[in-house]
Amino acid sequence: MARILATGSRLVLATHNPGKVRELAELLQPHAITVFSATELGLPEPVENSPDFAGNARIKALAATRGSGLPALADDSGFCVAALGGAPGVLSARWAGPGRNFAPAMARVHAELGDAADRRAWFVCALCLGWPDGHTDTFIGRVDGDVTWPPRGDRGFGYDPIFLPRGSVLTFGEMAPQEKRAISHRTRAFEQWFAACFGAGGAPGLH
Ligand code: IMP
Repeated sequence: MARILATGSRLVLATHNPGKVRELAELLQPHAITVFSATELGLPEPVENSPDFAGNARIKALAATRGSGLPALADDSGFCVAALGGAPGVLSARWAGPGRNFAPAMARVHAELGDAADRRAWFVCALCLGWPDGHTDTFIGRVDGDVTWPPRGDRGFGYDPIFLPRGSVLTFGEMAPQEKRAISHRTRAFEQWFAACFGAGGAPGLH
């Protein structure tokens, strides 16, 4: 059983990525939780040196809860390509360079894939809720699909324009926010979190 975050609580979103802040805040919106971003509170960005998503989410959640004294929710996520051995994976943000420019990062995926027949790819999201006493709960969500080229759509962020979720004709970059939210790795990690707090049905109003 995960520790429950009560309706009406204050929570830090342990990220400086505006795309993630927006999506996390939208997912929490039905639960009347007051959210602050790490940027808003002037929290430093910790070094993410774990080899996996769950480890990096924990590093960020603990740094933000210690820096703020509030419970903190961290998301470590990334884009994984089967034919590249799961790359860029935990290096997804780093492939975009310090300017966070995803056009060259997507071009690199395309170049490294070449004419490989296997186009399978997936997004992973590790969510970690950290508490000032050092307690953490971690949940993992994933959405499967294929790499498509050229990039399509300017809604979303990061690698969204080259990801075609399984069964969809639209890339994540072309989907309306609510369409992406219905199936995303981040939503699936949230579902795990709420199921762990409230049972298999999750919390009412999560979607
Ligand atoms: P980090 O979790 O801050 O290390 O960065 C994760 C990186 O993965 C982001 O900067 C994006 O490049 C990529 N990523 C994570 N989630 C998504 C998503 O929903 N759409 C597109 N790219 C994503």
